[in-house]
Amino acid sequence: MIQSLSSTIHARRDDLIALTQDLIRIPTLNPPGSDYRLICEYLDTRLKKHGFQTELIRAYGTPGDSEKYPRWNIIARREGTHSGDCVHFNSHTDVVEVGAGWTFDPFGAEISDGKIYGRGTCDMKGGLATSIIAAEAFIETYPEYSGAIEISGTADEESGGYGGVAYLAEKGYFDPARVQHVIIPEPLHKDRICLGHRGGWWAEIETKGEIAHGSMPFLGDCAVRHMGAVLSEFESKLFPAMASRFTEMPVVPDGARNSTMNINSIHGGQKEQDDDFDGLPAHCVPDSCRIVIDRRFLVEESLDQVRDEVTALLEGLRANRVDFDYELTELNSVLPSMTDRDAPVVRTVADAIEKVMGKVPDYVASPGTYDQKHIDRIGKLKNCIAYGPGILEMAHKPDEYIGIDDMVDAACVMGATLETLLLPKS
Ligand SMILES: [Zn+2]
Repeated sequence: MIQSLSSTIHARRDDLIALTQDLIRIPTLNPPGSDYRLICEYLDTRLKKHGFQTELIRAYGTPGDSEKYPRWNIIARREGTHSGDCVHFNSHTDVVEVGAGWTFDPFGAEISDGKIYGRGTCDMKGGLATSIIAAEAFIETYPEYSGAIEISGTADEESGGYGGVAYLAEKGYFDPARVQHVIIPEPLHKDRICLGHRGGWWAEIETKGEIAHGSMPFLGDCAVRHMGAVLSEFESKLFPAMASRFTEMPVVPDGARNSTMNINSIHGGQKEQDDDFDGLPAHCVPDSCRIVIDRRFLVEESLDQVRDEVTALLEGLRANRVDFDYELTELNSVLPSMTDRDAPVVRTVADAIEKVMGKVPDYVASPGTYDQKHIDRIGKLKNCIAYGPGILEMAHKPDEYIGIDDMVDAACVMGATLETLLLPKS
């Protein structure tokens, strides 16, 4: 008699805990991008034991890749006994800096009160371990499945994913002819399905002036005052316009359902001196002032609109303000991504959540971006969601943790998803 998949998963609870702990104890900090090779080798050994064919792939020449900090990724694939769809679980292996305020050892993976503590537990090594346990238990329960299961561990998601999923997508690993369903176990909570994310546009704006003696500012042209005019245009026109736009995307938290913009930094005039400098500043009119803006936009807005809106305000100042001159340098952009609610992976995971958790799932979208953007734009694969255990608000925080019961429940949902997608329909 075949043991049910969920009881197999429950029986592997200790294995799930130990696997999560092992992953946490490899400190894959990004920046700089340390120990990627080590974590890939660990996953390689583990997955080969369960019949996966593995490939370790270094993203040569991508941002941050060097002999000291090579950008290693792993893709593991296990073919079934009949032809069919491939289900891919993609997790990033990098974690962000530790920061202050911890009461647990950030790389100790201690267990307390049903939770595992450490940097990367929720974002997202707990999700990675959960998908591995789900896949292994599925393979053991149903040795004769159709299609294929893939598990990837990828670099650099926290810094844009260029040495990870973007690189693999460019090499064809997310070609829809090869992979049909993608689940990214980011910590969106075990009863929610994340359909996508907002877009982002990052730019530097520099206003120009003319240097002169600070006692005679009328002989120069103050770039900081020009930037003040830019900021006042933003306050009076751009921010109210953004606040009036509301997306149909189910973005959480609520505040992110509007268009938003952060002013990331501002600097004008003389370069700031080192902390040990105790001299006084020279008296100069600043000839340059720079800000970096971080504009997050909605699926209802286009990148051109977002760019043109800012440019129009700057051009208005050029036309109306004496001696106003500026330069705008685009730093990066990411288009919004939104998977259709009727996509096969969405419907299947929704049914699995209902079956395992006894409730209908919530559908959400993420305020910030994650690797779905590369799978969508470069891989041209639309059937992709984020689904995984953990509480999003714990990501990047001190005393980050993941609940063990949550991981077990999410593994059961992933297992039920594999049952629907990979077992021959009778
Ligand atoms: Zn993450």
